[in-house]
Amino acid sequence: MTVIAGRELPDWEREFPLLRELVEGRETAWFNPGIASGDEALAGVGLTVADIDDAAARLRRFAPYIAQVFPGTRHAGGIIESPLYTIPDMQDALKEHTGIPIPGRLWMKMDSELPVSGSIKARGGIYEVLCQAERIALAEGLLQQGDDYRKLDSLKARAMFSGYSIAVGSTGNLGLSIGIMGARLGFKVTVHMSADARPWKKEMLRGHGVEVTEHESDYSAAVAAGRDQATSDPSAHFVDDENSTTLFLGYAVAGRRLAGQLQALEVRVDEEHPLFVYLPCGVGGGPGGVTFGLKTIFGDAVHPVFAEPVHSPCMLLGVHTGLHETVSVQDFGIDNVTAADGLAVGRPSGFVGRALEAAIDGYYTVSDASLYRHLALLATTEDLRVEPSAAAGLPGPQRVLADTAYLKRAGLTPPALAKATHLVWATGGSMVPEEEMSRYLQTGSGLLSES
Ligand SMILES: *Cc1c(COP(=O)(O)O)cnc(C)c1O
Repeated sequence: MTVIAGRELPDWEREFPLLRELVEGRETAWFNPGIASGDEALAGVGLTVADIDDAAARLRRFAPYIAQVFPGTRHAGGIIESPLYTIPDMQDALKEHTGIPIPGRLWMKMDSELPVSGSIKARGGIYEVLCQAERIALAEGLLQQGDDYRKLDSLKARAMFSGYSIAVGSTGNLGLSIGIMGARLGFKVTVHMSADARPWKKEMLRGHGVEVTEHESDYSAAVAAGRDQATSDPSAHFVDDENSTTLFLGYAVAGRRLAGQLQALEVRVDEEHPLFVYLPCGVGGGPGGVTFGLKTIFGDAVHPVFAEPVHSPCMLLGVHTGLHETVSVQDFGIDNVTAADGLAVGRPSGFVGRALEAAIDGYYTVSDASLYRHLALLATTEDLRVEPSAAAGLPGPQRVLADTAYLKRAGLTPPALAKATHLVWATGGSMVPEEEMSRYLQTGSGLLSES
């Protein structure tokens, strides 16, 4: 019998009956009875609002440079941000397909349309590269405080950055963000890709002059390879997706930007107007950072819920058992093979799991078939295209509404739910080649007509 963290599987299943559903690959949900309120919810993070301010200010300093080198951001003044849409026809379709109405209003945060790299990684990934660039340019005397950062778009700057390298392990989208941004500045970038990364992502990166190293194994092994490469080279920086607080802060800036968008649209968020946010979770940095940012603004009025594939429920497994990054889904016999390549992560970030376990309301798992069905339904009802990972938030509202014990515990009464904002974070999609997207839609439509 296999032993996991010192105990046999049946023993684990006795203590955590939910594990059986995870191991059998059934869709399931868990709403954490141990969440905290007020400041206590964020006590484990070890970062503050001032840290988010600092990240937001750095992104503003770089904005003129970004606007110059990525023309797609010019009209936004070099601020890389995505739109927020209501999706009323999808809201109706979800009700029609499940018989469960969604009181309140359904919205989608379109990180699938983020400029430069078309996924949520354009937040954290690009931010970490910019941090590196600023630090080096200041140290090398190429940049002074108060300078116009468009200075960095020069032969001289690129020649200087070419003496430095950046390495990262990725299932695809993080590599795209780090690779495109890093290469544009002039860095030598190596992206260690896992076996499940899409071929087009590798080709696109190579087109940008990025070195792509392919690994037969999964994401965790690709990360380990990147870490090894960087530790043996002092001029190399390793972007540590599992532990980086820099990435995390880049994601956290999204919280205040979203707050501004909600305010402009006159959407209220307070105790009587709860905000549910459904976040697809891989290693946890993206959804974790967004959660941190939102919690610092909306406190107990925001209810973050993480979504994972049934084949890769690493964060749910880690937080529920308290084993965090010390175990992988494979240890429990779960295969980590999913069409949601951005979420194909077997081992969660121990940093995020520990930092935010008191702040994340709940977790649920989604089958690949459900991801495809939801992305097809979204395309037909709203004419919006997202990749499979990015559809994981769509079943969220009905998962929440089905758990009456959680709703009761959280004080989410019918009058409050009637005024709720349900926000599905669409984490990626606009870079997916058309042919690949039509295959996704075909698969989804086929599954929809069967059900
Ligand atoms: C990376 C990614 C996520 C999740 O972010 P993590 O930081 O890995 O949790 C979700 N969706 C897409 C499309 C992604 O690329």
